[in-house]
Amino acid sequence: MEILLFVISCLLHFSNHQLLSSSAEATQKLEYPFPFMTFDAEKAAARTYDYIVVGGGTAGCPLAATLSQHYSVLLLERGDSPYGNPDTEDISGFFKVLGDVSEFPYAAQGFVSEEGVQLVRGRVLGGGTAINGAFYSRASSEFIRNMEWDEKLVNESYEWVEKLNVFQPEKLSRWNSAFKDALLEAGVLPYHGYTLDHLEGTKISGLTIDSTGRRHTSADLLQYANPDNIVVLLNATATRILLDSSSGMIKAIGVEFMSSIDKISYKVLINQLSHWSEVILSAGPIGSPQLLLLSGIGPSEQLEELNITIFLDLNNVGKGIKDPPRTTIIIKSPETLESYPVQVVGILKNSQVYIESESYSIQENATLSTYRNYH
Ligand SMILES: Cc1cc2nc3c(=O)[nH]c(=O)nc-3n(C[C@H](O)[C@H](O)[C@H](O)COP(=O)(O)OP(=O)(O)OC[C@H]3O[C@@H](n4cnc5c(N)ncnc54)[C@H](O)[C@@H]3O)c2cc1C
Repeated sequence: MEILLFVISCLLHFSNHQLLSSSAEATQKLEYPFPFMTFDAEKAAARTYDYIVVGGGTAGCPLAATLSQHYSVLLLERGDSPYGNPDTEDISGFFKVLGDVSEFPYAAQGFVSEEGVQLVRGRVLGGGTAINGAFYSRASSEFIRNMEWDEKLVNESYEWVEKLNVFQPEKLSRWNSAFKDALLEAGVLPYHGYTLDHLEGTKISGLTIDSTGRRHTSADLLQYANPDNIVVLLNATATRILLDSSSGMIKAIGVEFMSSIDKISYKVLINQLSHWSEVILSAGPIGSPQLLLLSGIGPSEQLEELNITIFLDLNNVGKGIKDPPRTTIIIKSPETLESYPVQVVGILKNSQVYIESESYSIQENATLSTYRNYH
């Protein structure tokens, strides 16, 4: 029951082969919204669960779906459903969603880093996959080896995700086609054509957008869930992990959350009788450490300043978050180009350099700040 920290930024991280293969078989088609999605906080909090997963984003949805094959799971997500929202369901809403970054219920939350960089993060079931650039690629074999992951299991996990989420572009957009030619002319070689593998050189990759323009988010992976074992509670912001240190060891016993529907604070507990029960944080690289800090796990000085009772003095919580440095060049085209996300990438210098490009037309509802938020 110790706190298990999952701060995962890639789609694929499963810890149990058996769980994965059995869930891969569960391809029953459910109508959206899933019958186990709910806004009823009172009902969801009225029972205990083997696992409480905080954050229904890129990592949280597949994780909860997989766990539900054998265990009871509560998935808590602070945002709303991506289904029925044209901004998150269709790629044409991409720039709009990144422009509406102010308050709930918008699917993207804007923030500015201490260095003054404007950024966004997902606030919706599906998390980053509901608002991001929809470019999909597998990790390099080297990365998997360095992480000491089981390569066979990782590859099976990719297929599990790709079956529902990833699409080969039918054709390159005019801009992506010209960009691909430019990379080849500039010597970013070899050319691999279409591949999901991470390879040095130039390649066309997959998108999480299908041929009709519909975006597929990690929430779609809830199709793999066992509907009898899972509750997905939306509009529920976890405010604190409930900790118990009475045995001399710190244990997570549940989660306190606030429903944005009825504005009431609830407590929900994990099943105390099962030794495997856990609270799992998958609230993103900012949300997960934030929740630890709010729960009294972090640098004592900072917690004291904020008047938070200290459970565990852990100096590195909330520190060292980095985004890879990026240089963006925006060129105004003399011709009108269709808006289209990244389809082609050039990978150089042992994966230290990525060259990508996209085209978009500035529509009436997409202001310059939209582009700043994204870039
Ligand atoms: C604009 C943009 C474009 C991008 N483009 C791409 C791309 O093209 N390809 C690519 O591979 N990657 C892209 N990324 C990166 C990718 O989306 C992220 O790396 C990934 O989504 C992170 O996954 P995660 O599960 O760690 O967090 P998230 O997907 O952000 O999930 C965290 C979830 O936790 C929820 N949450 C947070 N706090 C709480 C709380 N207290 N209580 C309850 N719920 C909470 C959030 O609402 C969210 O749903 C992009 C990111 C952005 C912002």
